[in-house]
Amino acid sequence: MILPEKYSKWNGIPREEIDWHPTIEANQCTGCGMCVVSCGREVFDFNKEIKKSEVSRPLQCMVGCTSCKAWCVFGAISFPDDQRVKDLIKRKNILPHVKRLLEQKLQKNAAADSVSP
Ligand code: SF4
Ligand code: SF4
Repeated sequence: MILPEKYSKWNGIPREEIDWHPTIEANQCTGCGMCVVSCGREVFDFNKEIKKSEVSRPLQCMVGCTSCKAWCVFGAISFPDDQRVKDLIKRKNILPHVKRLLEQKLQKNAAADSVSP
């Protein structure tokens, strides 16, 4: 499975180096389809033979996102502890990179505001 370019890095870190994705407990999955239709990153597929969802593209999961866990009313989806993401942010010293992105975003917003009527 080829990872699309837009998902290939997270804040400069190659996505393959980050262990973050949902896990489905098959015995608890009822095949309701909520995660399949709701995830905006196409992480899940629906297996028609067993009538359950599967994690087909784990590396496309947004690092730190747990939305599908909240959507699964059957409690079938789990994630690693979010401390793993916090530790990664510290270990890889990501915050200076984030600060640069924030500055770029604020400049872009200010430029857009200055041309809008
Ligand atoms: S939301 Fe939960 S129960 Fe529904 S298909 Fe996804 S994993 Fe299965
Ligand atoms: S955590 Fe977010 S991005 Fe990752 S699979 Fe769930 S809904 Fe999709």
